[in-house]
Amino acid sequence: MASDSFLKTEITFLKGVGPQRAELLSKELGLLTYNDLIHYFPFRYVDKSSFTTVRESFAITGPVQMKGKITKVSEVGAGRKKRLTAVFTDDSASIDLVWFTGVKWVKPIIQSDKEFTLFGKVTRFGAKYNIAHPEVEPYEKTLSRVGNLQPVYNSGEKLSAKGLHTKGIEKILRTLIALIPGKIHRTLSADIIEQYNLMDREEAFRQIHFPESNELLKKAQMRLKFEELFFMQMALIKQKLITQRKTRGYVFGEVGIHFNTFYNNHLPFELTGAQKRVVKEIRRDTATGHHMNRLLQGDVGSGKTLVAILSMLVALDNGFQACMVAPTEILANQHLQSALEFLEPMGVKIGLLTGSSKTAERKVIHEALEDGSMQILIGTHAILEEKVRFKNLGIAIVDEQHKFGVAQRGRLWRKNVQPPHILVMTATPIPRTLAMTFYGDLDVSVIDELPPGRKEIKTIHYFDSKRLLLFQFLEDEIKKGRQVYIVYPLIEESEKLDYKDLMDGFESISRRFPRPEYQISIVHGRMKPADKDYEMDLFAKGKTQILVATTVIEVGVNVPNASVMVIESAEKFGLSTLHQLRGRVGRGAEQSYCVLMTGYKLSQDAKTRMETMVRTSDGFEIAEVDLRMRGPGDIMGTQQSGILDLKIADLAKDNQLLNLARICATELLEEDPDLTHKKNLDIRQELMLQMKRKTHWSRIS
Ligand code: ADP
Ligand code: MG
Repeated sequence: MASDSFLKTEITFLKGVGPQRAELLSKELGLLTYNDLIHYFPFRYVDKSSFTTVRESFAITGPVQMKGKITKVSEVGAGRKKRLTAVFTDDSASIDLVWFTGVKWVKPIIQSDKEFTLFGKVTRFGAKYNIAHPEVEPYEKTLSRVGNLQPVYNSGEKLSAKGLHTKGIEKILRTLIALIPGKIHRTLSADIIEQYNLMDREEAFRQIHFPESNELLKKAQMRLKFEELFFMQMALIKQKLITQRKTRGYVFGEVGIHFNTFYNNHLPFELTGAQKRVVKEIRRDTATGHHMNRLLQGDVGSGKTLVAILSMLVALDNGFQACMVAPTEILANQHLQSALEFLEPMGVKIGLLTGSSKTAERKVIHEALEDGSMQILIGTHAILEEKVRFKNLGIAIVDEQHKFGVAQRGRLWRKNVQPPHILVMTATPIPRTLAMTFYGDLDVSVIDELPPGRKEIKTIHYFDSKRLLLFQFLEDEIKKGRQVYIVYPLIEESEKLDYKDLMDGFESISRRFPRPEYQISIVHGRMKPADKDYEMDLFAKGKTQILVATTVIEVGVNVPNASVMVIESAEKFGLSTLHQLRGRVGRGAEQSYCVLMTGYKLSQDAKTRMETMVRTSDGFEIAEVDLRMRGPGDIMGTQQSGILDLKIADLAKDNQLLNLARICATELLEEDPDLTHKKNLDIRQELMLQMKRKTHWSRIS
């Protein structure tokens, strides 16, 4: 059996590379070993299966391939303006060729009477046609080539200057591929290869660089993608198992008076099936002595708060304290209100801690937390501070976790002798592929059902010219007793401009909806927190009918009587923000609306975003579109982009394969957790190798 020593060879030893090029390849592309080089895959392939005639080529805009002779080769100009020209002729017509760079490489090749294969794009200059920088090769070489798909590699100026343009890279890869028979070590077991019908690894490397057909190329890509995703999942799941084994969790052995009293006497409505299921999952986790580390995904309005409250009550029943961290003060306040409303009648002691808590209040809270008299603490980042200590914290809940970094969540782990159970909640659905990669070491629960009786929010896209119509509509809704949000962008780079838009908008709305008949609240990022809360409160209590705001209201705010969400300059918002904002309405029994206002001029991306919003209100579907448009790096932020360092798999496109890889990894680790079975030795070795190479695969969430 081949060992991995072949692939560890430094590329400088490969024929045609040498020290100078090796250094360049290392500097420019990070390629050090045969292993790196063989994983430097083509970024596309040119289909060279068909030939056109020169005459036909005049009418074709894309690249063409032709067969003919090259004559009149001459160098014109001098110094930096030097270029190479020639004429290409077949039976049908002639066309001019020109090269501005690489003259000394091309000239000797084309000065020959042979037949050539020419590949390039035709450009028209008045009545004349020419091709700049065509690829040329002797036709006999084309004939001997197996397969019609030619690899194209990413290169760069510095590389090209040393002959390492795509053709040059292709050449050294041909040399490498010629060496590999019998030298590629196995990474998967025969079982897996058979079960998933995967191509042999050596064959896959050959076919991905020099495919013999489209079909074989697909199989090669599938094999290599599967392998990449499989090892990533193996690393994540293994990490999860190790953490689970190492970390003991507090045992919430019983469900007692708090939970039961609330559940039987105070629960304002029947839980949805999904809520019940998730509560069960959480109870199962916390009852066993395992440490719970769970992500709860649920679309906006799916009722996550209630699940959080029920989980906290289980902690209380077992003599523990609980805390809940929210990303904004408004949201923390709102959670406090719900918790007070639900739990105060039962005598549960609840506190609030935010950035604007006064020193004197803090002192009281700190003491009550340390002596255990305060059972539940709700707040913002302030809770994470070192000096906030609990007597016996049993569970920590993070709401809207996408607003928190990994390190911030990590601090919750240290809030008790053993880490408290952790439940992180998010209403920004993360596409399954991303959840499986970024939160691959968490357990995931999903609330995929909205409380009954909700009407689907009607979403409309208006151009600015429909503003009069919009105002009339708002007036009608307000007359019916409803409330309205009007949201303006507040983007940091253009803060001044956005502020002006907001204020201009506020003025024109005030003119159209004058006092005392109408009352308008305004909330934006430049206001003091206390003022924001005051205005929000007026709106929440129904004392104002219109809330003009920036995206500070993006997450969590709950005013069931509000039925219209107007989003101004909607084209400036990303899909997940639009979806979050829309989620502020549709929380009551009334028909709700979301109106997206934009200018006429929209980019293609903006159009897609508007169309997606109008078409669907399924957060998971929106997340998928978002992923396809923006890519995983943008969605998850660069801070976590290490994991995106995938060579061939694409998290936006390969979700099916990722699913398979995850299932495969899960089953394998269930059967052989330490990979000690003989048939899994190759896997074990490769996993260790990869985990060493990719340190970011350990503990990311
Ligand atoms: P989110 O998941 O977005 O945080 P919330 O927890 O704020 O959602 O719940 C949204 C609204 O739905 C709240 O007004 C809440 O009281 C209500 N709600 C939650 N669960 C149910 C249920 N089972 N039946 C009816 N209404 C519910
Ligand atoms: Mg919420």
